[in-house]
Amino acid sequence: MSTYLSPRTGSAWETVIGLEVHCRLATATKLFCACRNSFGAEPNTHTCPVCTGQPGALPVLNREALELAVRAALCVGAEVQPWSKFDRKNYFYCDLPRGYQISQFDRPYCTGGGIELASGKLCRLTRIHLEDDAGKAVHDRGAGTLVDLNRAGAPLIESVTEPDLASAAEAHEYLTALKELFQFAGVSDCDMEKGSLRCDVNVSVRRSGEPLGTKVELKNLNSFSNVVASIEFETARQVEVLERGGTLVQETRRFDVAAAVTRTMRTKEDAHDYRYFPDPDLPPVTVSEALLERQRSMLPEAPAARRARYTKELGLSAYDAGVLTSARDVSDFFEATTRLGGDPKVVANWLANDVLQLLAADEVQAAAIDELPFKPLDLAELVELVSEGRVTRASGRTLLRAMFDSARAPQELMHELGLERVDDTAALEAWCRAALEGRDDVVADVRAGKDKALGALMGLHNLEPSAVSAYNIGKML
Ligand code: ADP
Ligand code: ZN
Ligand code: MG
Repeated sequence: MSTYLSPRTGSAWETVIGLEVHCRLATATKLFCACRNSFGAEPNTHTCPVCTGQPGALPVLNREALELAVRAALCVGAEVQPWSKFDRKNYFYCDLPRGYQISQFDRPYCTGGGIELASGKLCRLTRIHLEDDAGKAVHDRGAGTLVDLNRAGAPLIESVTEPDLASAAEAHEYLTALKELFQFAGVSDCDMEKGSLRCDVNVSVRRSGEPLGTKVELKNLNSFSNVVASIEFETARQVEVLERGGTLVQETRRFDVAAAVTRTMRTKEDAHDYRYFPDPDLPPVTVSEALLERQRSMLPEAPAARRARYTKELGLSAYDAGVLTSARDVSDFFEATTRLGGDPKVVANWLANDVLQLLAADEVQAAAIDELPFKPLDLAELVELVSEGRVTRASGRTLLRAMFDSARAPQELMHELGLERVDDTAALEAWCRAALEGRDDVVADVRAGKDKALGALMGLHNLEPSAVSAYNIGKML
């Protein structure tokens, strides 16, 4: 149990945290209409009568959204309800032309489940529900407030935890794990920069053994590090207020990133303020056993389970296992390559140290591993060429760089670039003699023990350095 020690009095306090996380489902279209569910398009180009709230327009539930939502529930070991319903959450704002959000109130499609932290502690989930997103109000100094409804009607799942988290570090760990699970399962890209993962944090403090204190809800947290910073600030603030004999009000506060403090936004509204009622335009949501089974079969092995297998069964370091499970496509690429025969440790080394590094380089076109022109089979072949000694490790790197630019097989590139290691002494000697032609200066230097002089010959004959080596040349002199 992590405790917070008051810097003023030295007394011990507990932080209590519950998280509400919105993830945008990775569907092709919006939750209740056929508009594209996309990010970054020209404002108001993906809209229709349904998602702009025109009178008489009727919503129809997107089946793909329900499927991904069910998959999300399975990821966190939750229970999918065979029957649930949609409710209207009424409020007014310019980014919500319909005047209500379609959400799930008292009968969410998913209840229970949780995420186990590394310490073994379980952070329980209360529920996950489906809802649609509002549009985006852009406050422009010159033009006033502009409204973009491309996001209006985008499919969201909101995952709500019990107040089980006890520190900023635990909140960070939970968020990281949730994001990874949803990303691996293809539920959501969880990209905070695109707004496809948004997080509200509920924080209260208490002395050990006391009942739960008054909670404050923190909004506007656009990175995990802001989540951590705001929890730390808020814990200290609440303890300070209580120790000075004050009382806390249940309110919503905004995190001011620049000042690293939280500020009052509004006092907390209650559920009845939203006048929730069942949406008469939508039939109840039913999840059949067949749908459930299909999603179960599409669930990938979880990232944490992969990491455990990589370290225990394949003998990788915890660090490499972490790098290789940083994304589903990387992990899948790794496994596909090893299935084709590459030694796991060697493949891990090539992937973690060479492929991912090149992928991150600016001059490389591909942004993700599955956009590369080469496939696991090619990497397996490269690894084999190096293990068999047909190319040196250094030439292997040159070969890999060439593979980034062309979809051709490593063997073919090896021949073309003359990277194959040569063991034929007669051929080596002939190359070395050709290289030394007219370079008596180099010959003299090498005789004098200055092997570095050979550097002047490198690259002349398209040979790999191991061919025109001090050793091979020395044998001739
Ligand atoms: P509300 O009705 O105000 O939305 P909920 O009961 O729905 O409150 O809880 C919202 C979130 O706040 C949940 O994640 C829950 O775990 C968390 N929460 C509830 N009470 C507390 C508390 N005293 N301290 C910290 N978090 C809390
Ligand atoms: Zn639409
Ligand atoms: Mg709530």
